[in-house]
Amino acid sequence: MSARIIDGKAIAAQLRQDIKQRVDARLAAGRRAPGLAVVLVGHDPASEVYVAHKRKDCAEVGIHSIAHDLPAETSQAALLALIDELNANPAVDGILVQLPLPGHIDTDAVIERILPHKDVDGFHPYNLGRLAQRRPVLRPCTPRGVMIMLEKSGIALAGLDAVVIGASNIVGKPMALELLMAGCTVTVCHSRTRELEAKVRAADLVVVGVGRAEMVKGDWLKPGAVVIDVGINRLASGKLVGDVEFSSASAVAAWISPVPGGVGPMTRATLLQNTLDTSEDRG
Ligand code: NAP
Repeated sequence: MSARIIDGKAIAAQLRQDIKQRVDARLAAGRRAPGLAVVLVGHDPASEVYVAHKRKDCAEVGIHSIAHDLPAETSQAALLALIDELNANPAVDGILVQLPLPGHIDTDAVIERILPHKDVDGFHPYNLGRLAQRRPVLRPCTPRGVMIMLEKSGIALAGLDAVVIGASNIVGKPMALELLMAGCTVTVCHSRTRELEAKVRAADLVVVGVGRAEMVKGDWLKPGAVVIDVGINRLASGKLVGDVEFSSASAVAAWISPVPGGVGPMTRATLLQNTLDTSEDRG
């Protein structure tokens, strides 16, 4: 069997087009563009690349992005004061603080300071709690992007046995909540899970977000499974790979998302979707 590719890059491009049309319609109706404040503290090279992408994506769809590039030695008090200012600014619909923050800053305190309806990353405890209650408001971008990919690929989820490998607050846990909400029976695996391979082998749907290059092999999978690879790992050769060994897995799975070109572009597009959604909610 040769798996069908879930082309996140193409699905994300379509999503951006739809978002642009909705933003254009807002402007045509005499309303302002949605505004996204993107806050970067310090000079982490990967974060600088991610932030540059986010600003470029905003420009493409007509979302007004407001840059706040702060020095690495910015105090927690100064960062919280900026968040307060952005919370109070009616032209700012979404606030994104790029993680990781420098070690002297309490990340949880910063996330919790953002007003929940401006938390376009979906990391605030209010938004995670609402997702757990099956009454989501702003949903974390990566898991929501995965759900959009699955839906656009026409994959029916209700009743499937799903395994999520990884239990972080930004990927694994909200992913499990999304799948539960969609009617899957969900098993969440992590670094202390026993007999991981056997659990994966029993799954109709496997979502992997661990950060270990090519950990999941084709012979771990149930034939015909749907495989979503969230991992991003750079090999010594410079090649980018996921947490799933693509060559062996694609010979067994029915559907598979590649790395690059799978979940990554969906995460970026979903941030735009969240920003538009919250601006629409606020009129
Ligand atoms: P993280 O916070 O480090 O969490 C990793 C999770 O994997 C933890 O729950 C950990 O278990 C679990 N784990 C570690 N080793 C394991 C093993 N041998 N077997 C099973 N589970 C294991 O990482 P993250 O932020 O969730 O990111 C995970 C991956 O996704 C990374 O490669 C990251 O770059 C990628 N990512 C991609 C996107 C995208 O848009 N494509 C977005 C976000 C992240 P414990 O809980 O027991 O520690």
